Amino acid sequence: MRIIVCIKQVPGTNNVLLDPETGTMLRSSAKGKLNPFDLFAIEQALALRACFGGSVTALAMGPAQAESSLREALYMGADKAYLLCDRALIGSDVLATSHALSQAILRIGMPDLILCGKQTTDGDTAQVGPEIAEMLGIAHVANVTQIEAHSGGALHVTAALEGCDCQYRLEPPFLACMEKDANTPRLPSYRRKKEMEAQSVQLLPLSNLMDADPAHYGMQGSPTRVVRVFAPEHKETRRFLEGSAQAMAEAMLGILKEEKIV
Ligand SMILES: Cc1cc2nc3c(=O)[nH]c(=O)nc-3n(C[C@H](O)[C@H](O)[C@H](O)COP(=O)(O)OP(=O)(O)OC[C@H]3O[C@@H](n4cnc5c(N)ncnc54)[C@H](O)[C@@H]3O)c2cc1C
Repeated sequence: MRIIVCIKQVPGTNNVLLDPETGTMLRSSAKGKLNPFDLFAIEQALALRACFGGSVTALAMGPAQAESSLREALYMGADKAYLLCDRALIGSDVLATSHALSQAILRIGMPDLILCGKQTTDGDTAQVGPEIAEMLGIAHVANVTQIEAHSGGALHVTAALEGCDCQYRLEPPFLACMEKDANTPRLPSYRRKKEMEAQSVQLLPLSNLMDADPAHYGMQGSPTRVVRVFAPEHKETRRFLEGSAQAMAEAMLGILKEEKIV
């Protein structure tokens, strides 16, 4: 089974500087780490490879320093790693990011399974996985807690929805977004690190993609715009409501009307 795992390098701290002009994140201002949610996707991919054989390829879109997160995936057990890196990708919103990643997947070769994390700890939209699947015209399942073998080459997928688990039988190719705590990600081993030291991370520039038109990526290809960047205001004024639930609800409604919120 050929599996591609999409991983993102995210800032390892909350103290990320923002460009006041463009409203974009200055990623070089913070040391990066592998998005914690993506560790569950890597672990699931490695478990499936142990069951079915095949290969696990890690793919990241990001600046040159994202290579360290791809190396982490290699040290955990991935066979290959690709970094989609190009100045034309800077400022990509979710749509442009998903387009770039789906183009990179087509360039590497359509796998049987694409795994993503549920969300990232910086952008946090949880939209990239489903958008990649839509762009590639394949099925996707979100909130996945387990993927196991099923009869006839299909896979048995369990997804956690609010209050219930859903079971699916899916024929590859499809995309799954792995839920937090779906498994226990292994630690990169020292032996594996030594084995993979010589393995290079392959760079994918925009010119290698089928759609190499810079207008479809980065700020040009992003319909969303950062209108204003500001630190959230902390209002010190607080009002405590007292009395019965009915009285407090009525008082609250009065305040909301007063503030012209409702
Ligand atoms: C208006 C706007 C402007 C933005 N401008 C910038 C900017 O200038 N610079 C900037 O760096 N970011 C910018 N971002 C953030 C950027 O768009 C997101 O980081 C990107 O779209 C991924 O979305 P997400 O982090 O919400 O991923 P989610 O949808 O939460 O991620 C889900 C999963 O998708 C996969 N995934 C997501 N991103 C990647 C990736 N890059 N490589 C591989 N796998 C991935 C991972 O498996 C991840 O767990 C902007 C976002 C918005 C909304």
